[in-house]
Amino acid sequence: MLNLILFGPPGSGKGTQATMLKERYDLLHISTGDIFRNELKNHTALGLEVQQYMEAGQLVPDDLTIRILADFTEKNSTSKGIIFDGFPRTIAQADALDAFLSSKNTPVSLVLALQVNDNELIKRILLRGSFSGRSDDQDQSVVTKRLAVYNNQTAPLIDYYKKQNKLRALNGEGSIEEIFSSLCNQIDPISNRSVYQ
Ligand code: AMP
Repeated sequence: MLNLILFGPPGSGKGTQATMLKERYDLLHISTGDIFRNELKNHTALGLEVQQYMEAGQLVPDDLTIRILADFTEKNSTSKGIIFDGFPRTIAQADALDAFLSSKNTPVSLVLALQVNDNELIKRILLRGSFSGRSDDQDQSVVTKRLAVYNNQTAPLIDYYKKQNKLRALNGEGSIEEIFSSLCNQIDPISNRSVYQ
């Protein structure tokens, strides 16, 4: 299986690139943020539970997030592989993912880290908020909080995956096509496709 983690701060373009990578490599795309937003939209019990965290720009607790991820993956099993977008975001989530994938006899293949400077991230997120309606993309203090949460709780995963020799850092600034192409350059050698089309 090709199991990719698309890693990076909020606004680094993970969702956009994951949608394109999903098509190219025929992968299941899992975005924990999308799953939570969908629950919120449908006013489910889970949606109500996660709402306060999302609106405050904080992470949803690990036990809940890990359970949701495992459930979604089991329900949508695919033989080709998975692209994880916005998960893992803590060391506990990364440990749980390793354990979960080991139980399926398949490892994380690569962690692709998109690097974008903070000013550009804030600009992109507020722009997205102006047409997406996402409340956590519209309030500058929540956006700043999310970046701080990323730096404190999620960025330590860079070392975690460096130690496993799985991390590939990429420039996340540039055109969508340029970034997609540099992602494919990393993935193609380990996927079944050898030629970039
Ligand atoms: P995203 O769309 O990935 O930026 O996620 C939006 C919000 O959903 C985050 O600010 C968190 O509140 C929550 N969230 C998404 N993924 C996770 C995760 N892996 N762990 C904890 N909270 C998450």
